[in-house]
Amino acid sequence: MKDTSKKIFEEIKKEIEILDKCKKHEFEMISFGKYKCLNCDCTVNGNFVAAYRQGYEHGLNVIK
Ligand SMILES: [Zn+2]
Repeated sequence: MKDTSKKIFEEIKKEIEILDKCKKHEFEMISFGKYKCLNCDCTVNGNFVAAYRQGYEHGLNVIK
């Protein structure tokens, strides 16, 4: 595995671990296309928020 892909993978893993600890994200827009969760302080982009909200509404466990 290349160093770059390994680093990206580690970052994603870290992000998932943070997300796992949060029961329900309450996203608030902090700047254009960037959102912060009021419960766990994670910062995500607009695409993630859209997917998360859709998954949540549909009762799917898309985050895990
Ligand atoms: Zn959260």
